[in-house]
Amino acid sequence: MTTKIAAAHQVHQILADYDYFLFDCDGVIWLGDHILPHVVETLALLKKHNKTVFFVTNNSSKARDDYLEKFQKLGIPDVDKTEVFGSSYALAVYVEKILKLPKDKKVWVLGEAGIEKELRALGYTTLGGTDPALVADGLKFDASHPALTQLDPDVGAVVAGLSLNINYLKLSATLQYLLKDNKTIPFIATNIDLTFPSKGMLLIGAGSIIETVSFASGRQPDAICGKPNLSMMNSIKADCPGLKENPKRGLMVGDRLNTDMKFGRDGGLDTLLVLTGIEKEEVVKALPSETAPTYYADKLGDFFELLQ
Ligand code: PLP
Ligand code: CA
Repeated sequence: MTTKIAAAHQVHQILADYDYFLFDCDGVIWLGDHILPHVVETLALLKKHNKTVFFVTNNSSKARDDYLEKFQKLGIPDVDKTEVFGSSYALAVYVEKILKLPKDKKVWVLGEAGIEKELRALGYTTLGGTDPALVADGLKFDASHPALTQLDPDVGAVVAGLSLNINYLKLSATLQYLLKDNKTIPFIATNIDLTFPSKGMLLIGAGSIIETVSFASGRQPDAICGKPNLSMMNSIKADCPGLKENPKRGLMVGDRLNTDMKFGRDGGLDTLLVLTGIEKEEVVKALPSETAPTYYADKLGDFFELLQ
């Protein structure tokens, strides 16, 4: 059973019951490059009530600094870097804190600038990624390319996320590192969303790209850092002791059941699903109690609208 938020008294109850609000971004705060209706006002309302907010996105293409710019551009002022948890940042924290990869080791990246920036900010050297030579050389594949034949002996981790400038050369080089040293180099993924919505279409997500190199190498990622993985939740709780002590004072707001809602539930938080992204109302209403969100709403902006 889940409850639809459709009346002012329910919003007041939520404001009374929760201190910590975790927001998925795409499908909740924005859709692509467009802010969703009355989100700015709803976030202002939460700030006015002294609520702690975090923004938690699986999109690894940007680093936290880039997200700050995006929030600013969309009219959401005063977001602090410490409030933003992207899967690229989660991956960099994982490599440093859990994998404990020494800083003199290098990281091979199948992915975008967001991953490179977050790893470099922690002092790692990255290879692959957005290297323009690998983009240009990929236009005409050559199996004797040094990226394939002269593997860097200092690579100590292979990381993968969404790669918009993917090509056969980079996929093949990633495979070489996954097979190297008897498949022992750690393989870390940002997130495994198979698709993501854009302009009314579904586009190929990080998970589908990661499947390609997984299939070829016969290896599954050793860790997946984005939602619903709890390493991301643990990083948030480490920065927010109140949420750690009392997760039931936290509400995870998202648009996807198998990432956002599972993430909130597994982290011990209550959950709110909004219908501005992936899921449909008929599906949500029919869910068994184990997987149903605590609440659902047509959109996040209803918090503001219902109080007018
Ligand atoms: N991955 C990519 C590449 C995306 O573009 C998106 C959404 O735009 C996502 C994942 C999902 O992001 P979020 O967790 O903010 O919904
Ligand atoms: Ca989303």
